[in-house]
Amino acid sequence: MINETMYQMGNKLSVIRELFSYGLKQAAVVGKENVFDFSIGNPSVPSPKAVTEAFQKLCAEEDSLPIHSYTLARGSVEARAAVAANLAMRTGTLVRPDNIFLTCGAAPALCAVMKALSLEDSEILVIAPYFAEYRPFIEFSGNKMVVVPADMENFQINFPELEKCINEHTQAIVVNSPNNPTGAVYSYETLSKLSKLLKAKSKEYGHPIYIISDEPYRELVYDDAYVHYIPDIYPNTIICYSYSKVFSLPGERIGYFFIPDCVEDGERLYYAASGAARVNGHVCAPSLQQKVIQICADVKPDISVYDRNRVVLYDALTNYGYQCVKPQGAFYLFVKAPYGTAKEFSDRAKLDNLLIVPGDEFGCPEYFRASICVSYDMIIRSLPIFKKLIEEKPE
Ligand code: PLP
Repeated sequence: MINETMYQMGNKLSVIRELFSYGLKQAAVVGKENVFDFSIGNPSVPSPKAVTEAFQKLCAEEDSLPIHSYTLARGSVEARAAVAANLAMRTGTLVRPDNIFLTCGAAPALCAVMKALSLEDSEILVIAPYFAEYRPFIEFSGNKMVVVPADMENFQINFPELEKCINEHTQAIVVNSPNNPTGAVYSYETLSKLSKLLKAKSKEYGHPIYIISDEPYRELVYDDAYVHYIPDIYPNTIICYSYSKVFSLPGERIGYFFIPDCVEDGERLYYAASGAARVNGHVCAPSLQQKVIQICADVKPDISVYDRNRVVLYDALTNYGYQCVKPQGAFYLFVKAPYGTAKEFSDRAKLDNLLIVPGDEFGCPEYFRASICVSYDMIIRSLPIFKKLIEEKPE
């Protein structure tokens, strides 16, 4: 007998994957240059030179055994020390290698932390729009997912709504800033208000309510946006990080969870999350990638390509009459469907081989997401289609 729920999970493609596969098939029919695929969040700039060189150097080592062998489950001391030093430099706080656990990207880091916080009736809050995978991560780690609408004017937190959703079962809230899909970066004011609310609620219910800060886009910020170090504002914050986006390494699977010393019960939480990783089959993060991170922890990405894409698409779409909050980070535009539901609009766009993701999966069915990690040239060629589509708006 086969577990039906797992079968359904595995057998069903996400809308994003479906669109992406459709795009590949259509390219064979109408030509690659006639498909405008804004569906998937695959980085579109090459990895920084230092990262590529580190891979090359490591793979050329004569003695390959140490490169590929198992490490400690939490990652090698050297790699964690490099990550800790980088975090210490960025945050001006003391970070010990033992606060860090290297994982195969942000996804398993989130799952481990969420499982470590699962209790009977435990709830984890997310702000909609949210990264679609949060639902399986939260539910299959043994928690209930509670969705709180964002402030739709600016995609910051809607505090009256949030307050209504916190109760004695609330274990954590996921904060994702810079945000997928909106590109919003939480202001200091938002984070301070959140801190005040969570401190009061933790006191009221007699246990900490943690922030799980999901930060794969931390370095991808534009203009004068600034990503605050949340533990400075709210100490009970756990950070889940990934090198997928920053180093354009999504297929290589490397990231970490970091539990700062200021987290209440932090050591027990660290071990619980390590245990959760273990029961999910984690053995160690890929050894080669650990070594790359050890060498490149301080490397900074060049985000000028994404910035240029962001500005050209945002300016054009808003000029045509689309409603969109200018993203300050990540690499997506989250746009209000000009008519009908976003699903209907996305289906219409598909007829012109323009692939945009309806917001249903992100918990916002009136919006669509367009990834800007695509070629500049494709954006420019897609603009007449975006224009034509909004001009079809019924009177
Ligand atoms: N969190 C968010 C908000 C994301 O957008 C993604 C990937 O797109 C992840 C987590 C997972 O990242 P990773 O590839 O490191 O598992």
